[in-house]
Amino acid sequence: MPEVLVATSNPHKLDEIRAILAPLGVRAIGLSEAPVTGGTGVGSRSAADLPEPIEDADSFAGNAEIKAVAYARLTGRPCLADDSGLEVDALGGAPGVRSARYAGVDGPRDVRDAANNDRLLRELAGVPRARRGARFVCCMCLASPAGAVLATSRGEMAGVIADAPRGANGFGYDPLLELPDGRTSAELPPDEKNRVSHRAAATRAIAPELARLLREPAA
Ligand code: IMP
Repeated sequence: MPEVLVATSNPHKLDEIRAILAPLGVRAIGLSEAPVTGGTGVGSRSAADLPEPIEDADSFAGNAEIKAVAYARLTGRPCLADDSGLEVDALGGAPGVRSARYAGVDGPRDVRDAANNDRLLRELAGVPRARRGARFVCCMCLASPAGAVLATSRGEMAGVIADAPRGANGFGYDPLLELPDGRTSAELPPDEKNRVSHRAAATRAIAPELARLLREPAA
């Protein structure tokens, strides 16, 4: 069965992507299962032991490409990478590629998430619901073992930014993105979130092309 390296250290993301690719006859493996064969990291146990590449592009697509190309070259395998975040219309698309560090706070994930959500609510104070449109965006990139971009995709999950956080599931800005049915993303059961998420949409969009390319001997 053809294999693709998924450039994530998040086991939940790997499981989500694996479930979408398996029916297409592609096995998704994680960074810890990929020995390093090239570049500066030769001798490391696996790609998971290397420092992550610096994602300094100004777009999700650019950052996904940086990751996919870097890990493909380091492992000599086809590599699928994603980058995601929140875009808010009234903020000109911010926090965008700075979603993870919007409030500039370090520390455990829940502390960073709470600070980011607080900042977002402050930035939108007084902005009426009609202008609070926003979306989670996920861009994916598939790179060949030599580091050439083979395919890209984009998925979205759209809603409005609520006035206060609601819901206990998920992470990041989930408690603030209110979906068209009135629930926030953090009020969706995890299975449902995984089916309707921007990541699922981007994975489904790239999956057929990925499966086709990996079945070809050149990939
Ligand atoms: P990453 O691409 O997984 O590193 O996500 C970057 C940042 O975007 C995260 O730290 C979150 O702040 C935000 N983000 C991405 N996807 C989601 C999501 O599904 N729910 C909530 N926040 C998200």
